Amino acid sequence: MADVAIVGGGPAGLSAALFTAKNDLDTVVFDTDETWMHKAHLYNYLGIDSVDGTEFMEQSREQVADFGADVRVGEEVTAVEDAGDAFVVTTDDSEYDVRYVVFATGTDTELLDGLGVEFTDDDLVDVDLSMETSVDGAYATGAMVRDQEWQAVISAGDGGAAALDILSNEKGEQYHDFDVPDDA
Ligand SMILES: Cc1cc2nc3c(=O)[nH]c(=O)nc-3n(C[C@H](O)[C@H](O)[C@H](O)COP(=O)(O)OP(=O)(O)OC[C@H]3O[C@@H](n4cnc5c(N)ncnc54)[C@H](O)[C@@H]3O)c2cc1C
Repeated sequence: MADVAIVGGGPAGLSAALFTAKNDLDTVVFDTDETWMHKAHLYNYLGIDSVDGTEFMEQSREQVADFGADVRVGEEVTAVEDAGDAFVVTTDDSEYDVRYVVFATGTDTELLDGLGVEFTDDDLVDVDLSMETSVDGAYATGAMVRDQEWQAVISAGDGGAAALDILSNEKGEQYHDFDVPDDA
């Protein structure tokens, strides 16, 4: 059983995958490669002067894969079910049992319908500050949890918050993914 399945490989999903894979959780990312980033050029991502959105995604995927995540571009998730002790993620190619699932599909919430997660009055997925939904172990990020606050850096932050919560759950205490200059 994989530890974490991430549905969507835009900034939110890849950011979550970076943290979980870097910290040795078995991580699989499914992505149909229709991220809005292909239409964007970034001048407002802290630390980056100017980068084409598609180039940013290519670099991000490579970084995440280097940390050991299995990034499956072109594999579409068609259903996610809560089986009690695991989530069953069905794709157009196979089926996976995972302990955590992170939804990072932009505005599209169709896959969450079968899980029975709660929505807000504004029709956004209801999450806590760690991006966890009302279903334990299921996280939601990006445009599905935010009313029009659609920026790559915000999505990446959502993904990081979800991943740190998963890591804290796994380790049984608040986890900090801190590195220091001597680590470089
Ligand atoms: C024209 C335009 C210009 C923009 N310019 C900027 C800008 O200058 N700066 C900025 O910060 N932001 C900009 N944005 C917004 C930015 O692109 C988004 O905020 C960002 O892409 C959101 O990231 P995300 O990971 O939440 O979702 P997305 O990037 O939308 O990624 C979702 C991913 O999930 C995949 N997916 C969906 N369903 C499934 C499924 N069932 N199975 C597998 N994969 C699935 C999709 O193919 C996609 O790759 C712009 C957007 C547009 C449209």
